[in-house]
Formats: sequence, C-alpha cells, structure tokens
Amino acid sequence: MEHFVIDRLRASLQDRVTTPVDEAYDSERVTFNAMVQRRPAVIVRARSEDDVVAAVIAAADLGLPIAVRGGGHSVAGHAMADGALVVDLRDMRAVSVDSATGIVRVAGGALWEDVDTAAWAHGLAVVGGTFSDTGVGGLALNGGIGWLSGIAGFTCDNIIRAEIVTADGERAIAGADGDPDLLWALRGGGGNFGAVTSFEFRTIVPGTIMAGTLSYPISAMKQILRRIAELAASAPGGLELMADIGRAGVTPDDERQIEVGVCLPGDTDNAAAVLRPLRAGMPVLDDTVRVMSYPEIQTMNGRIPFGLRHYWKGHFLRALDEPVIAGIVESLETHRGGMGGILLESIRGRANIEPEGGAAFGQRAATWNASALAIWEDATLDDAQISWARSAAERLGVSSLTGAGYANYAPVDETTERVRLAFGTERFARLAAIKARYDPGNQFRFNLNIAPG
Ligand code: FAD
Repeated sequence: MEHFVIDRLRASLQDRVTTPVDEAYDSERVTFNAMVQRRPAVIVRARSEDDVVAAVIAAADLGLPIAVRGGGHSVAGHAMADGALVVDLRDMRAVSVDSATGIVRVAGGALWEDVDTAAWAHGLAVVGGTFSDTGVGGLALNGGIGWLSGIAGFTCDNIIRAEIVTADGERAIAGADGDPDLLWALRGGGGNFGAVTSFEFRTIVPGTIMAGTLSYPISAMKQILRRIAELAASAPGGLELMADIGRAGVTPDDERQIEVGVCLPGDTDNAAAVLRPLRAGMPVLDDTVRVMSYPEIQTMNGRIPFGLRHYWKGHFLRALDEPVIAGIVESLETHRGGMGGILLESIRGRANIEPEGGAAFGQRAATWNASALAIWEDATLDDAQISWARSAAERLGVSSLTGAGYANYAPVDETTERVRLAFGTERFARLAAIKARYDPGNQFRFNLNIAPG
C-alpha cells in the first residue's frame, strides 16, 4: 500500500516527492532552527492547489499526520515533524495585486519579500514581519507584528479571505463568500485548520515614513526602558517601537548594545517632536532615523541565517513596568555567550483594536510583546542557553497579560496550557469547535495545537 501511494504521488509530482532513501532528503528537511532535526516520512513540494490536495489525500491513505512548511522559520520547528507527510509550500510564492481594490493575493508559501516588492510597485503595503525572508504563512496565521502594526494592526487582522485544503482533501474558502467562522479562526489560530494555499490581504498606503534605529550603551538599560515605556504610553498610535536589548550581531564578539527601532508612518513633520524623548538627555551612540520607503524599512534588520540554534520564550505584557524592567536588567546580567537578548515590541494603536469580523488572536490588550531570544552556535551551550531563556521569560512573566507568550516565537517545548492561556477560555473553545469541523482527526497537529473540541 505504502509503495503504491508513493508511486501514485510520484506519477504526478515526479522528483518533488522525497523520502528518507532519496539523496535530497537531508537538505529538504532543513529549517531555520538548527536545534530541530526531524525526520518526516515523506516531503512533498507542491506547486499548485491540486498538488496540495494530492499530498493531503496521500497522507490519509498512508495514515500519516501532516506538517505544513511555509517559509520554514518557526523556531519550534513546526514545519517538519518526525514520521509525518510534509506539505512543502516553498515553491508556491506567487503574489498579485489588484490596484483597484488594493487587495493582495498571496500564495501559501510566499516570503514577505515577495509581498513587499509586489505591493510596493503600487505604493501599497501589507503589515508583515520585520525580516523579509520569513514566511507569510506562519507569521500571518499566528498574529504578525510589524513596523506598520500601529496603523494596520496584526498581520492576521488584515487577512480578508483565504483558500485552504482541509484534512479530507477538500477545498474551503474562509471569508464572506465561504465560511466567516473559518476566517475568524485563521486570524490567529495558526495552521490548525488545513493548508492555506492562498491568502488575500487588505493593504494600506504607508506614504512617507520616518524610521531607523537609535543605539545606546547597555549600561543605560534602566533609563532607556523607562523612557520607551513612557513614550509608548503617550505617543501617537502609529508609532511602532522595537527594542533589542543586549542582542549582539550574528558574530558573538559584537559589542552588546540597546537598539531601539522606530517607525512613524505619515507624520514626518512631527517626528522630531514625537521622538524627542529618545534623544533628549540620552546617551545616543548612533541615530539612523530618517525618511524611508517601506521596502527600505523591511531591510533594516538584515537577515538571520539558517543553521544557528534558537530557543525563544516570552510574554505579552500588561505593562512595561518597574518589576519587568528589573527582571530584564537581572536577566541580561546573567546572560553569557551566544547572540541572544531580550526583544520588546510595542503593541499599540490599531493593534489594540479588533478588526471588523473579529479575530481569534487573544492578546489584543497587551502593551508590549516581551521575549527572551537565546541564539547560539555551539551545541555544548544548549543547556545553558535554554535555561537562560526560560528564567528570563519567567522574569518577564511578572506583568504577563495572560500567562502566555507570542505563538510565533514559541519554543520547541511550548505547553498546551500556554496555548490555551494565549486565547482565553472562550476563544479557545470556539477554535476547538471550528477545528472539530475541519480537522476532527487532528491531522494538522504540528502547530500551536488546538485539539478538536
Ligand atoms: P513555518 O516554519 O513554515 O511554519 C510555521 C507554522 O505555520 C507551522 O505550524 C506551519 O504548519 C504553519 N504554516 C505555515 N504556512 C502555512 C500555510 N500556508 N497554511 C497552513 N499552515 C501554515 N514574527 C512577527 O510577527 N514579526 C516579526 O518581525 C518576526 N520576525 C522574525 C524574524 C526571524 C529571523 C524569525 C526566525 C522569525 C520571526 N518572526 C516574526 C516569527 C515568525 O512569524 C515565525 O517564525 C513564523 O512561523 C514564520 O512563518 P513561516 O511560514 O516561515 O514558518
């Protein structure tokens, strides 16, 4: 039976079906986090919705659960799973823009650079992640925090329609011309409901943007943290702040600093006044803030290469208050080796408001997303780095909004309890009911899993 099903897949997909006996197997299963080394039973590189349907039906015939690979950037490594059939969407990256409606249609395996380039050709932007080589699929389905979140919300809030292949190999539409409940679920509920073959996003016209990075010495940590907390509490909603605290560059010897990334769309005349608290009386080492186009901003962070080891964990915060600030200072004092640090992303403006039709995303009342990012190269540091990230996350948890962190930064061992807390009882129950309709056997289980309810 097994040979028959694989042969049938190969008859239509040829060399795009990889099993452990194939030479390409090891390179096909590589994803972002080098800590994750999983051995799927079959990897199927889909090029069309028909290929995805064929792969899902094959998984059912083989009795295998299904993992979906979008951009492959999940730190938890959810794109690959031991013994699973992987539906690999990396060859499905087409993007088209309807300039009349401003709607962008994005294939399920696209990267943010694909979307940014296509949308910007029409002066448009979709709020996406801040690293252009990450995948659209995972990021959008689990939230999505970007430079434009202050004016456009989370990425998931901007999904207005999606086409999906469900566990029974059927096609479903999430949205007004299909199932609005499924659209609600895809706005934050992750890859639980099937393989999304295409997304439709609403766009914004970002216009002129003031953006860049202010760098400070690590010794000024408390002062900077208090200043950004005050600024976030009073500045216009469009301002997005992202602070990298103590994270060195990708070479471990780079001097540790605090880098505060800022993005203020559409208010460039007022920018100097808005950003004054980040400069006045502050020990600024470098200041790159200037007028930028959206694609320029999207390259500001550079890239983090595949092949490093990662363990990320954190909390959405009620407030960046004194107990959290003390916790960050203590955490950085105990951080040795590696390239990690603490990342703070402001959750403000439009991100605090539910989109029309609602969204499953459950951390809307947060003021910041705070995450301990352990990043290192040498496997002998695994225990030390993981235990640092865990204890730093615990310190961040003193002012946690829900007791949970950001699904898109979840570590390999994220608990079911934290997944439940991230949504809250009511949203979690609604998600579980939708899951039961679309995936009663939990075929799509390699994600922040919601068991069918
Ligand atoms: P994958 O590893 O391919 O998939 C992750 C999960 O999503 C899996 O469960 C997978 O099954 C599911 N999935 C992916 N595509 C689909 C699909 N089409 N249909 C159904 N399920 C799918 N997040 C932010 O919000 N903002 C940032 O600025 C940001 N920056 C990042 C920078 C780096 C360097 C990294 C590593 C991560 C960053 N993230 C950011 C987190 C990012 O959102 C997650 O890593 C996310 O999982 C990336 O999506 P992906 O498609 O590449 O992931």
